[in-house]
Amino acid sequence: MFSDKKSIVILGGGTAGWIAANLMATHWGKEGVDITLVESPNIGIIGVGEGSTPPLKVFLDVIGVEESDWMARCDATYKVGITFRNWSTKPGFSEYFHPFLSQPDEFSVPGFFHNSFLRRKGVDLDGHPNRFFITWELARQRLAPVAPPNFPFEMNYGYHFNSGLLGQFLQEWAGKKGVKYRQATVNDVVLDEQGNIDYLKTEEGETIKADFYVDSTGFRSQLLQQALGVPFESAADVLFNDSAVVFPTEPDENPEPQTVSTALKYGWAWKIPLTARFGNGYVYSSKYVDDDDAELEFRQHLGLEDSDLEARRLRFKVGRVSEHWHKNCLAVGLSQGFIEPLEATALDMVQETVVRFIEAANKGGLTDQYRDEFNARISRRFDAVRDYIVCHYRINSRTDTDYWIDNGRNEKISTSLRQLLTAWIQGLNITDELERQNLDAYFPAVSWNCLLAGKGIYPTQDQLRPGSELAHEYDLEKISRYLKGCALNFRPHHEQLAALRTSAAA
Ligand SMILES: Cc1cc2nc3c(=O)[nH]c(=O)nc-3n(C[C@H](O)[C@H](O)[C@H](O)COP(=O)(O)OP(=O)(O)OC[C@H]3O[C@@H](n4cnc5c(N)ncnc54)[C@H](O)[C@@H]3O)c2cc1C
Repeated sequence: MFSDKKSIVILGGGTAGWIAANLMATHWGKEGVDITLVESPNIGIIGVGEGSTPPLKVFLDVIGVEESDWMARCDATYKVGITFRNWSTKPGFSEYFHPFLSQPDEFSVPGFFHNSFLRRKGVDLDGHPNRFFITWELARQRLAPVAPPNFPFEMNYGYHFNSGLLGQFLQEWAGKKGVKYRQATVNDVVLDEQGNIDYLKTEEGETIKADFYVDSTGFRSQLLQQALGVPFESAADVLFNDSAVVFPTEPDENPEPQTVSTALKYGWAWKIPLTARFGNGYVYSSKYVDDDDAELEFRQHLGLEDSDLEARRLRFKVGRVSEHWHKNCLAVGLSQGFIEPLEATALDMVQETVVRFIEAANKGGLTDQYRDEFNARISRRFDAVRDYIVCHYRINSRTDTDYWIDNGRNEKISTSLRQLLTAWIQGLNITDELERQNLDAYFPAVSWNCLLAGKGIYPTQDQLRPGSELAHEYDLEKISRYLKGCALNFRPHHEQLAALRTSAAA
């Protein structure tokens, strides 16, 4: 890969830093690339980020980790999708499920596409997404998505986990792969004449030098943004939230294998089931509500008004850097940007950034040969994910606060999203529009259809007509029987988690 032995310093030991360390060590460790992760003993990790998308499983597979190695240690549970509650006021659409698409859905999803498409054209068909997906059935029945060996279809799922514990686990795993670890707080970054990072100075009076640096210092972005001056492009005009308040609550013995996202007055609340607790957070906009009122509203939502449980409060900024790789530095994680956590996409972005960086470096070394192409690709991903999240807000139908009204009227949405919404409202095939814009590379057509259908973006009930017999070609009872039949193959979530604890103990 590289013509001579190279050294890489990863600055920051949050989840992003440890994902980068494990991937780089897996791909380059045997080639003698020297990888050191440096972490401040005084600056903590962000400590939230407990939900994932299915690619996390791919990451764990690539670095050689089995579920029995890590899940019990990290209080992890399975995740088959997200229920969005109270985002829409349209009758029949007060909640919907965004599934991780799995193979059994191949038989039922055509019915959803068909019904949804014709409902947009004014035919009175059931166009709500839920009952067309196996993972909805699993979430509803609290079953784990792990298929028995004789089940002929592949399942697709993610996880919930304690992010601090996952970081510790990944640190140990990286150590086994030869990643060195050092505790130090970097307080100065010295550049060479070409503007590359030459070396780092620490509070402890030492210097740290490498050929290449990974900035995983979280929102402070000590290297890429602060030292190299790479600009941050804010997305605050389309994503209003900038704050969160977080509480743990008692766990459920048989947790649902899904995240629940409930819209509140000034944002939304996540409920993430872990084996040892629920993680709960209210993500809101400080421009519309002050922190104390947001905390009070959230306490009321959780039934914690009288509890003396202390809340954690966080501020964050949304957007991305203009270049993720600049000079001899790559930013991963919060240092490269953050699109708010509504679809739990941040770790997926970390993984994608590191994997694509490794690909680019394998082709061109640590030179700038493939850098622009890489940067454009990662920025494109950020923007496409941003638009999917923005769409959640833009199509909300709540009118209870200015926050929701302003979101619903926001004219600053991108041209790409505007074109997609127009295609939906005009009754066009949005799969074509997604392909035309290459948006299905980020969120698949099913996800877009679920989002728009799940929030009830359809003609109103009085505009619907019965339609011909042909329009009713999909028998929902039959689909329901099929999915329930598939679900018989899966065991209760708590039993699967208990089996993991037993094999971890052994
Ligand atoms: C409210 C909220 C909810 C979220 N929910 C999700 C979710 O559900 N799913 C998801 O995928 N993501 C989520 N995220 C994002 C997720 O938390 C982060 O992407 C993830 O934790 C990675 O963070 P990080 O490693 O980039 O930064 P951090 O965790 O902040 O780690 C920074 C590291 O850098 C070190 N450091 C900083 N400065 C220095 C220095 N000068 N010298 C030495 N070391 C230094 C620190 O010691 C620390 O180790 C959420 C984020 C927020 C704000």
